[in-house]
This record gives sequence, structure tokens and C-alpha cells, in this order.
Amino acid sequence: MIYDAIIVGRGPAGLSCSIYTVRGNLKTLVIGKKDSMLLKADKIENYYGFEYPVSGKELLETGVKQAQRLGAEVVEDEVVSIDKTDVFEVVCVNGRYRAKTVLLATGAPVVKAPVKNLERFEGSGVSYCTTCDGFFYRNKKAGVLGYTDFAVHEAMELMAFTGDITLYTNGMPLKISDSHRDSLSRLKISDKKIKELDGQDKIEWIVFEDGSRDSVDGLFVAYGSASSASFALRMGIAMEGKSIKVNDKMETNIPGLFAAGDCTGVFKQVSVAVGQGAIASRQMIEFVRKMK
Ligand SMILES: Cc1cc2nc3c(=O)[nH]c(=O)nc-3n(C[C@H](O)[C@H](O)[C@H](O)COP(=O)(O)OP(=O)(O)OC[C@H]3O[C@@H](n4cnc5c(N)ncnc54)[C@H](O)[C@@H]3O)c2cc1C
Repeated sequence: MIYDAIIVGRGPAGLSCSIYTVRGNLKTLVIGKKDSMLLKADKIENYYGFEYPVSGKELLETGVKQAQRLGAEVVEDEVVSIDKTDVFEVVCVNGRYRAKTVLLATGAPVVKAPVKNLERFEGSGVSYCTTCDGFFYRNKKAGVLGYTDFAVHEAMELMAFTGDITLYTNGMPLKISDSHRDSLSRLKISDKKIKELDGQDKIEWIVFEDGSRDSVDGLFVAYGSASSASFALRMGIAMEGKSIKVNDKMETNIPGLFAAGDCTGVFKQVSVAVGQGAIASRQMIEFVRKMK
């Protein structure tokens, strides 16, 4: 089955977009984890239509119910990769979906992994994209920095190039779903806290706080969740700093792929996210109608 629209992110930008796409008769799936920035907002008193402050949680929960009532499917899952062939293929921890258009509404970019010298070796052995750089590590010793399903997914992508892969969790407990648990047996796992990365012109060592060190040829960062930046690297989406670059129609440089909300780096407010989601929806509806 192919959805007309898949919306990645169930915050105000994604949900707002879905309200319009379902009403525009697009078969719409919203995929998101339950960690919208809205949940951190105790009281919102600058959003139109509420005489008294409303909690972010209430606003979000009502938004989900509204989207569902209108006909959007809303699933709780984490997207780990998106690819485009003739349609978009959206791979999640617990499933895989296809769609004619996709909206990225994944919120503010995630914080970088807290590892010393990571930036120093970016492009010199430290990579954020297995699809782009995996090829350079054929039969070499590769590491993946991370502790979640996203990290295991990236490690499995690397398996096409090398069987010598270590998952470095940097002291974090593994957070792996049942669907990825079997894959762990194919990896070496190091759960030691990392002190720093070291090397001459490129990364050569991962140095641990206990004084020990591992040699690596390359380190792929997949720390926490897949973010708009990880999708951008994989798909070649143009960025502006850490944000996804969009035009005034919320189009990215990839036809059929749109972005809205905090991931576009504009004024990070609910009203803006909701507005951008609405604008994106119009273009998505047009895009799908032109395909038919
Ligand atoms: C403490 C605090 C107070 C705030 N107060 C206000 C206020 O008073 N007024 C105001 O207007 N704004 C306020 N904001 C800002 C507001 O919350 C954000 O601007 C708004 O939530 C942005 O909406 P969004 O949909 O772009 O992103 P988010 O609300 O962050 O939603 C992003 C969604 O994407 C999902 N996601 C991310 N990665 C993945 C993935 N790989 N797979 C699946 N899903 C994914 C997340 O789970 C989430 O569902 C506040 C923010 C904070 C942190």
C-alpha cells in the first residue's frame, strides 16, 4: 500500500499538516515518537484562541485526537531512514511504509553526541552517514557511536561493507527494541565511557575514561534518534546550518519532500509550526494530484 502523505513527527507542525492533507483527501500517516517540544511547555499563553494558558501536553493530545477524528492514521514509532526511488520509503523501528510525498516535521535538531574531538575528525574518519561513506570502510574496522535502534540500524547498513563493527555506547545503557535485538549479536559492543577521540590527520583511536583505547578506521555517529540532519545527509537534502532549507512553499530541494516547524530553524513557536504545516499541506495535496 502506498500512502499519499507520510508525516514524520507528531508535534504541532506535523499534526497541523495532517489535518489539511486528510481534508484534501490524501491518505495520510503521521509517524512520531511521544517527545514533542510541546510536552516541555508547561503553560502556553501566546497561542491564538485560548483566553487562559493551556499546557503543551493538552494542546498536543487534543491535536492528535483532532487529526485522528478527521481520518489521519497516527502511529508511535521512530523513523530511522528515508529513501526515495519512485516513491518514498520510510523505515521505522517497527515497520516500513511507502508514500508519494513526505513532510519532515521532526522538531529542533538534536544535540551533538557529547564526545571530545568529534568535530575535529568530522570528514576525517567521523561520519554521520553510512549511505554516503560506508563504502570507504570496506573490510575495515568501523565503529558506530550510539545506543539506540537508530545506531543498530546504521550498523546493519555498514554490514554490507565490513563485518568488523563495534557499537560504542559511551556508557549509555542500550535502548533497543525487540525488532533490532537479534542484530546486536552481529556486533561487538563497548559500553565504556569515552574520554576523547584521537589521531594524527584522521581518527585512529577511541580513548576511554579508564585509560584503555580501541583503534578504529572510522566512526559513524548515530547517537540518540535519527534527526532531520541524518535524513538530510542520507538523502542529500539541502541544509542551512543545522536546519532544513525550505522555500516559502515549504519545499526542500527534493521533489515531493517538504519540511515544517522547528526543523526549518525559523521562529520556534507553536503558531509558526502550525502555519508552516498548513502551507506544506497545500503543496503536498497539489503534488499528489499532479501525480494522479
Ligand atoms: C520549555 C519550552 C517551552 C515552550 N513554550 C512555548 C510557548 O509558550 N509558546 C510557543 O508558541 N512555543 C513554545 N515552545 C516551542 C514549541 O514547543 C515548538 O516551537 C513546537 O513544539 C515545534 O513544533 P514541531 O512540530 O516543529 O516540533 P516538535 O513539537 O518538537 O515535534 C517534533 C516531532 O517529531 C518527532 N520526531 C523527531 N525525530 C523523529 C524520528 N526520527 N522518528 C519519528 N518521529 C520523530 C518527535 O517525536 C515529535 O513528535 C516551547 C518549547 C519549550 C522546549
